[in-house]
Amino acid sequence: MKKLVTLFMIMALTGLTAKAALAGDTLADAKKKGVLVVGCKDSLPPFGYIDEKSRQIVGYDIDFVNAIAKKMGVKVELKPVTSASRMPQLQEGHIDIIAATMTKNAERAKVIDFSSTYFFTGQKFITKKGSVKTLKDLEGKKIGTAKGSTSEQNVKKSIPSATVLSFDDYPQAFLALQQGKVAAVTTDEAILAGILAKAPNKALFEIPALQISDEPYGLGMRKGDTNFVNFVNKTIIEMEKTGEAAKIFDKWFGPSTQFHLDRTFKITADK
Ligand code: GLU
Repeated sequence: MKKLVTLFMIMALTGLTAKAALAGDTLADAKKKGVLVVGCKDSLPPFGYIDEKSRQIVGYDIDFVNAIAKKMGVKVELKPVTSASRMPQLQEGHIDIIAATMTKNAERAKVIDFSSTYFFTGQKFITKKGSVKTLKDLEGKKIGTAKGSTSEQNVKKSIPSATVLSFDDYPQAFLALQQGKVAAVTTDEAILAGILAKAPNKALFEIPALQISDEPYGLGMRKGDTNFVNFVNKTIIEMEKTGEAAKIFDKWFGPSTQFHLDRTFKITADK
């Protein structure tokens, strides 16, 4: 019996070490390699999208990771991800950090670690102008969103009678709305505002004042990658204190931008 207990203890311990090794130390590894590999969106203005002139991926999420990489003294390599692929890409080691419009929630936090909240929004809908006044108007309707998103889960809960069509990304869902294949597209308001701002026929659509959830964004890191998580948190809280975080917000969402939003949050340490 004693032998068996010892065997179980050894198994448990080696299991733990294997797990810790998997998480690694991204802070040290990236410094050694001189590069931080970032999973980002590439079609969601103003978070991560391809700038028409430079053909580079730019945006609010990108500016945040650029500031973190600068502090580490490393270069950034951007790898486009989708809502569904971002967590597996991180866990399999293809990217080091997720900066991709990602909401922090308890379910995801079982699998990966999150930074303090660096952006705050809430889930709404884009519809044809005048077609939706209350959530009742969407009952039994087809609604487009992205696979693997909280938007997909939230809308199923809020409007159970709706048929949810999940696309790889939100621009595809918006195309379905333009083609009359869905009655609405749902995701975070800040993303919807970005899609609408860039749409050639934007006068036909609107974002009704119907919010179904709060969506706090966090940068995603491998579970147990504690040195890196602490470094990222220290950096973004410092960016809040020096005004750099507000400056990045203003660059993308300030009054002179096409995505104008008010900054209703401050970056603080999670309790
Ligand atoms: N913030 C939500 C999420 O993390 C919706 C946007 C997205 O799909 O990235 O699922």
